[in-house]
Amino acid sequence: MSFRSTILTLYPDMFPGPLGQSLSGRALSRGLWDLETSQIREFATDKHRSVDDTPAGGGAGMVLRADILAKAIDAAAPADDLRPRILMSPRGKPFTQQRAHELAEGPGVIIVCGRFEGVDQRVIDSRDLEEVSIGDYILSGGEIGAITMLDAIVRLIPGVMGNMESADTESFETGLLEHPQYTRPADFEGLTIPEVLTSGNHKKIAEWQMEQAEKLTRQRRPDLWEAYLSSEDES
Ligand code: SAH
Repeated sequence: MSFRSTILTLYPDMFPGPLGQSLSGRALSRGLWDLETSQIREFATDKHRSVDDTPAGGGAGMVLRADILAKAIDAAAPADDLRPRILMSPRGKPFTQQRAHELAEGPGVIIVCGRFEGVDQRVIDSRDLEEVSIGDYILSGGEIGAITMLDAIVRLIPGVMGNMESADTESFETGLLEHPQYTRPADFEGLTIPEVLTSGNHKKIAEWQMEQAEKLTRQRRPDLWEAYLSSEDES
């Protein structure tokens, strides 16, 4: 069975958007994954189809109503649907490459996209939504976060990437940032390619790439470097 994604949103026209192009777009038309959207507004009950209301306790902005969102979730995902239910949220657990792998191996995802100031806490609790963040900044809605997450997941679904090797050495896969890359021309504005890469000596090339990856990680991401060192100690 292929990977099934269902997106609950007030802006279904944003999908598939960039996911309809390139690698993920080809995989979508080949049926390696599918994407369905559900318009939350269809579950509104008043004649204005309103989905939000003012926050209890006062304060700025509006909040997505629990009853309407819960109905949308229940319609999209019956109780026996085993897909993880994710709420895009800046308060959530940061999304990582490891999580992308875990999700790519599973049956799919249900993603709820928040808007306004966010969603009523009771729907998060009662529908067991897992809050996931794509980074420490505030977006105006969950849609771009959902697209970002799906892009990272879909390329890891078996059969989507032609050359699976290219995934193995990528940044975050090894615990290190990837080494620099070069291609033709051999001379670009007087800048040449590091000699070792054209030497044909595969052992030397691998050593050089590893040194570069370690150096970049140490300089740019001390957090990843510390984690890498402690995982090396264990193994
Ligand atoms: N008032 C909220 C922010 C609301 S932003 C707060 O301070 O925490 C509106 C919606 O955009 C959120 O409900 C969420 O679905 C989405 N969103 C914003 N930033 C995000 C991020 N970094 N990661 C994932 N989703 C985000």
